[in-house]
Amino acid sequence: MHDVELDKTHRLRTKVLIWTCGLLGVIGVVLGIINFLYIRPRPVLASLQLGYALLSFWLMRRALSEQHQRWETNLYVAGLSILVMYVIYISDLLGFLVCWALVLPILYYLMLGKKTATIPTGMLLLFVWVDIYIKSPPFFWPVVVNFSCSYVLIWVISYAYENNRERSENELQTLALLDPLTQHYNRLALSKRFQTFSQDSTMPMCILLLDLDYFKAINDTYGHEAGDIVLQECAKKISSVAGYNGTFRVGGEEFCVLVQVEHPRQAVELAESIRQLISNTEFLFENQTLAVTVSVGIAQFDTNTNTKVSLSNLLAKADKQLYLAKDLGRNKVMFDVDC
Ligand code: GH3
Ligand code: MG
Ligand code: MG
Repeated sequence: MHDVELDKTHRLRTKVLIWTCGLLGVIGVVLGIINFLYIRPRPVLASLQLGYALLSFWLMRRALSEQHQRWETNLYVAGLSILVMYVIYISDLLGFLVCWALVLPILYYLMLGKKTATIPTGMLLLFVWVDIYIKSPPFFWPVVVNFSCSYVLIWVISYAYENNRERSENELQTLALLDPLTQHYNRLALSKRFQTFSQDSTMPMCILLLDLDYFKAINDTYGHEAGDIVLQECAKKISSVAGYNGTFRVGGEEFCVLVQVEHPRQAVELAESIRQLISNTEFLFENQTLAVTVSVGIAQFDTNTNTKVSLSNLLAKADKQLYLAKDLGRNKVMFDVDC
């Protein structure tokens, strides 16, 4: 199964970072040279601009090869904020350099997310107000009012865009990871969870592959709708024992449970509880009672030793056990674990 990239935020931020670094790198070089060669040379500002341009190109290279860290991005944005504040501070208001401050809220929201962005956006506005106040030009109020209105407008639009984007991404992620019929996690969610477990966990992990017995007969006898209800109820039963986060629907009438256990014996006990619960349940459909059983195959993944085992390997091992359970007459739990 192809690994689907669901974290669009990271991709968006990397792209914004690459473009920002590229553009600011070029702008930094051009402004740095101008400030060195200007009639009234400003060597401190020029050096800062050229230094920031170098930093931009360095970070752009790292972002292009996906090596950049979050703290580097944060530091880069903080550096830009300080540079913009310095430029605003040393210039007179007629130079209109305050307009650089208008760029930053957009960058804060795109690069840092809506929670983190609020503080620097508010602080920058405060800084500009103080700067305008200190310089106290005769046309003090028009500058404050016009700057504040445009700044707040950009702030609101940036917030609304980021808020909407985050919400849509969360909704899309939920849709991509959920099975629409049972509202339980699907196969993609299983592969994501497996990745996380195998990277972070040191405890043994077991996979339970559950397949409803003679399910086709339920569809054939009572209809597809009855089959759907049984699938929904079975998902609820399985997750009531194994937990919602550990239950996945991986095929038509196949479920999977991923558990971390102190001893693999616990996984066998868990499977046995599920098997018993399903076979003891009377499923209701249009006043008729349906009996369902499940066969289970279990395989073990030791996170300490089998670091190279893939999910498909593990599923294949569990599948072998499942077929043994079917061959032995169904409604059974078979396992390939160290008990
Ligand atoms: P076994 O005990 O060997 O597993 O037999 P089985 O009948 O359960 O297995 P088989 O693979 O022959 O049939 C699986 C059936 O599951 C066939 C298919 O129509 C049904 N099925 C798959 N997905 C759905 C679904 O979403 N809803 C319903 N109602 N049926 C489904
Ligand atoms: Mg099947
Ligand atoms: Mg089946």
